[in-house]
Amino acid sequence: MRRTGSEDALAVRRTFVRLEDSMAKVLGNVVKSAPERAEENGEARYDVVVVGAGTAGLSAALVLGRSRRRVLLLDGGEPRNAPSHASHGYFTRDGARPEELLEIGRGQLEPYPNVEYRAERATGVSGSDGSFRVALEGGETASARKLVLATGVFDELPDRPGFLELWGKGVYHCPYCHGWEVRDKPLAVMAEGDEVLERAVLIRNWSRDLVALTDGSALGEGVRARLGGLDVPVYERRVARLEGREDGSGGLSRVVLEDGSSVEREGLFYAPPQRQRSALAETLRCEVTAMGPASEVVKADPMTRETSVAGVYAAGDAGSPMQSIALASSSGATAAAFVNHALCTEDAEASSAGNGDATGGAAARS
Ligand SMILES: Cc1cc2nc3c(=O)[nH]c(=O)nc-3n(C[C@H](O)[C@H](O)[C@H](O)COP(=O)(O)OP(=O)(O)OC[C@H]3O[C@@H](n4cnc5c(N)ncnc54)[C@H](O)[C@@H]3O)c2cc1C
Repeated sequence: MRRTGSEDALAVRRTFVRLEDSMAKVLGNVVKSAPERAEENGEARYDVVVVGAGTAGLSAALVLGRSRRRVLLLDGGEPRNAPSHASHGYFTRDGARPEELLEIGRGQLEPYPNVEYRAERATGVSGSDGSFRVALEGGETASARKLVLATGVFDELPDRPGFLELWGKGVYHCPYCHGWEVRDKPLAVMAEGDEVLERAVLIRNWSRDLVALTDGSALGEGVRARLGGLDVPVYERRVARLEGREDGSGGLSRVVLEDGSSVEREGLFYAPPQRQRSALAETLRCEVTAMGPASEVVKADPMTRETSVAGVYAAGDAGSPMQSIALASSSGATAAAFVNHALCTEDAEASSAGNGDATGGAAARS
């Protein structure tokens, strides 16, 4: 097929992008696509820095890329569900490997040269709306008009044998993610005090062969009676350790209590306390609060995902007590749309005031 001049230019540009991509990979810089970055005093300037490239960050970067924004996407490489063999409940991808989903997400950013992906952590942040500075672990800094924090959370598992080893492979936080796989199996719920009733009421939907573990915490008489009425035996001793199956399949086999007694179980549902995986929200003085079952959530407007600090948006687990791949993807896309909307408004205001777009205009971007 005959090419026009602009098609030729496009072909040359694509070749260049591929070459640059290969070179970057060879150099270990992991830049997925040729960035259209501006520089000021040797500092890279972006419209948006998205911190975290799990589901929420990838989703935000995709929408921002398609909105012709210059984006830097920083990937710390520690997605929360990494210990799991399979990710469940996400429309069209039920049962996919967690890493497979992220690979697809990263691959689908490649057509957008205005999105720069780096396997690098943000180590610090300063500034305010319109002018943030992000310090990268490699020593560089980047400036951005807006920030999206998609930094996820960290589950604080008990420091007792078996919890870490079996996390996501026999010890589960969420029945929507893992309940189907252990339906009708011998299960346990573990929670402090009376909270164990609420968990038991939920988990017995997946299996009636259920016991409640209070891990040494006290239980009210009424709650004990309710659990009894539901045929859920209660174990009030502290859990000493969890033992995995000896056939090497990786699942849970037994819960051993402090007094040496044990109960055979194939799945334990336990929602541990959580911490923010990154201190950036705190550094920026974003309001962080307990919300529902989650101990630390970056407070964000439910509609726009903007935090208590103007120009900073929270997406995914970091900003929500409702946590799943589907919800993280949704909130990443939502944050991105509202970030872009704010930038469009600011650009239009700057144009009307005769100052030109803050970015130099979309045509200059991509
Ligand atoms: C064991 C387990 C199994 C799960 N299974 C399922 C399931 O089957 N289905 C489901 O829907 N949900 C599941 N979930 C929940 C799901 O993993 C989360 O809801 C989802 O990963 C949230 O995405 P996110 O992008 O907000 O956070 P994450 O996926 O945790 O990604 C956050 C990213 O930000 C990075 N980061 C943090 N700080 C920085 C920094 N300073 N600089 C750069 N990067 C940074 C981290 O390294 C990480 O890569 C599971 C969770 C667990 C714990």
